[in-house]
Amino acid sequence: MKTIETKIITENVKRLCIEAATFIESDVLNKIKNCIKNEEGLSKSILEQIVENDEIASNENVPMCQDTGITIVFVEIGNEVFINGDLEAAINAGVSQGYTEGYLRKSVVKSPLNRVNTKDNTPAIIHIKHVLGDTLKITACPKGAGSENMSKVKMLVPADGINGIKKFVKETIVEAGGRACPPLVVGIGIGGNLEKAAILAKEALLRPIDDESADEDAKALEKELLKEINELKVGPMGLGGNTTALAVKINLYPCHIASLPVAVNLQCHASRHKVVIL
Ligand code: SF4
Repeated sequence: MKTIETKIITENVKRLCIEAATFIESDVLNKIKNCIKNEEGLSKSILEQIVENDEIASNENVPMCQDTGITIVFVEIGNEVFINGDLEAAINAGVSQGYTEGYLRKSVVKSPLNRVNTKDNTPAIIHIKHVLGDTLKITACPKGAGSENMSKVKMLVPADGINGIKKFVKETIVEAGGRACPPLVVGIGIGGNLEKAAILAKEALLRPIDDESADEDAKALEKELLKEINELKVGPMGLGGNTTALAVKINLYPCHIASLPVAVNLQCHASRHKVVIL
């Protein structure tokens, strides 16, 4: 049995929050750089400015965007790991320290009705999964409101089929326009039920930008949707162009015979997520 002290968890969550805010993951950044050659004029200039903005933010250790997000934390805890203390309190302490010491914008209100700021960006939204092994995997995924607000979940029915899924995804992206700050990573959860589909879509955003679904049907749909989304010509920041989405990621789960839940979680080009394995 491996023992992990809560102060180690707090230190790491703090670091992940600051790093996620200050530089884009290299796979996403390389994808954006590759897309520059497919653009010209304004759309090309926007992608170049996104790359330059990332360079400035990482060199000067400042946030790449004013909206440093609400922090979603995915935890995978092995059955041979003992946490010496309160795991969720340790994560929230790390978020608090990261946002305070890193001078990141505090974007969380205590109640959606009274709108009073908690002043340290806590609480995080924490998802805990139990797995086999002796490691603790923590993924911090700060999510800005621009792209999150334009995300959607819809309970389709089996008769809607693949065409219904595509229609819903593309309508969501067109409606979002520039408000989700494209180019996007499009996370899609299909299956489960209402809340499971939404979590699947969020988890899909954490996949490497160039990976493909292990499921052949999902893999084919990812390719088709990426092509069709880019044909919409929403373009970088919604101002037209060939690069509306950098990637489409589909995660599946079994569902009821009468259901076809679909969630579309839009992620902006900042695509913030950082991982540590303890
Ligand atoms: S959607 Fe992303 S890039 Fe746009 S304002 Fe929000 S965090 Fe920043």
